[in-house]
Amino acid sequence: MAKPFKVPRNRQEMMDWINSIPLYRDEHDKDPSFKSREEIREMQNANLVKQMERLAKQSPFYREKFKEWGIDPASIRTVDDLEKVPPTSKADYMKDRGESFRLEIDPSRIMEYIIYEITYTTGTTTGLPSRFYNTTYDMFMQSWVFHIGCKICYLEPDDFVMNIFPYHFIPHIGYYKTVHFASAIGMSMCWGYTGAPLPGFPRTIHRSMQKAIDDIERKKVNALSGIGSYIRRLIIAAEEQGRDFSRINKIQALGEAVPKGMRDDMRRRLQNMGAGEVYISNAFGFTECQTAFQECCELGGAHTGTPDLFFIEAVDESGKRKPDGEPGLLCITHLDRRGTSLLRYLVGDIVAVTNEQCPFCGRNDTRIVTTVGSTYGTRTSELMKVKGTLINPEIMRDAVANTPGVVEYQFVITKERPDDPYSMDVLILKVGADEGVDRAALEGELKEKVKRAVELTPKVEFVPFSEIFNPGQTLKAVRVVDQRPKG
Ligand SMILES: [Zn+2]
Repeated sequence: MAKPFKVPRNRQEMMDWINSIPLYRDEHDKDPSFKSREEIREMQNANLVKQMERLAKQSPFYREKFKEWGIDPASIRTVDDLEKVPPTSKADYMKDRGESFRLEIDPSRIMEYIIYEITYTTGTTTGLPSRFYNTTYDMFMQSWVFHIGCKICYLEPDDFVMNIFPYHFIPHIGYYKTVHFASAIGMSMCWGYTGAPLPGFPRTIHRSMQKAIDDIERKKVNALSGIGSYIRRLIIAAEEQGRDFSRINKIQALGEAVPKGMRDDMRRRLQNMGAGEVYISNAFGFTECQTAFQECCELGGAHTGTPDLFFIEAVDESGKRKPDGEPGLLCITHLDRRGTSLLRYLVGDIVAVTNEQCPFCGRNDTRIVTTVGSTYGTRTSELMKVKGTLINPEIMRDAVANTPGVVEYQFVITKERPDDPYSMDVLILKVGADEGVDRAALEGELKEKVKRAVELTPKVEFVPFSEIFNPGQTLKAVRVVDQRPKG
């Protein structure tokens, strides 16, 4: 059974926690995130040289590109040389659904190249998801990545986690990575196993949110890993039922931004159900790194953890690197991979990165830091023009998500007259509010906050929660819907 957990408040308490866990204590000297910045650079450069050799020999996509760009791959010797390499786009990747990014097998090291797992990137333009290949080497390396990642966010071998990601017809990376991180450190795990039914299979294959609530209480689960908005709805339902969730002390709220107000709300509700301290981590995960970058303290930045494996930059469209702390396009380079291997790949998020030592934990790995409110990244595809103003929906979301009394919310951008595409844009904010909240006061507060955030005043409409997000039907809440005619 899980031990009581106190969230470390400073570096000394964090080190005491690390030293209390034999797995982490015994391999601490090998943890790359605690190496000096110079040592990290040396490891990155050494790995990059070998990875460039692999790309030159074994990557169908980059082999061609090096010719086209007139770049000798052997001339890229350090991570600073990477600025000479033009970025690779998602469009490049989707052209053949990622196939040409998979390294060809090196016959002298066949075991490293066995395809062990395929994950998918969602939301492609063709409708077909693109493949992302992990070989045996990549999978074994991921076990190490998960040792480091779990250590950053205070997950430990004695924890009992419920994997509450849906069992979906497109394999969800969160579902599988939760299996892998739990197994890598020897954690116990059970499953919510919710998800949308597939025609032809009995509905009883999947279980309900209600069953998950029962199991969390009955099996004495202490950690949850799932999509942020889903976990929150589960907590709200459990609170309404007066459940005993006193053991919950760690939450991996993933798959979307989980701003501070949302975390505080989840924590308050858990504490109403008997919980003590609860650490809620909103790690920043994406398919291309096959992991989630973890927080050492809430909102303290998303640590890469293994900077010798991933080189992270924020860049402009031409690939020029932004200085530390300045927002740019998230650009990743794999430094030691065998399956799908990417070089200066634009993930599609706007982020700010820093290489400064983390003031909380003292790690020296690269971190993605918050630039907008309390969230790490904004999808580049999400920037939108409303009433002629370019807005970042993340700022708008952050303003509302941090408002007490708001349970669910959704922005809808539509036209004043739906049959007239040239009529004025209208911004509607649908709100599912807590019972007993003063709606007039809440409406005033929300209008003011959104206006301050994006200089647009929304029309506020109060609606039932399920009109915005029905956990039985969709994976996560959609927070911004653009209903304007396209084109
Ligand atoms: Zn830190």
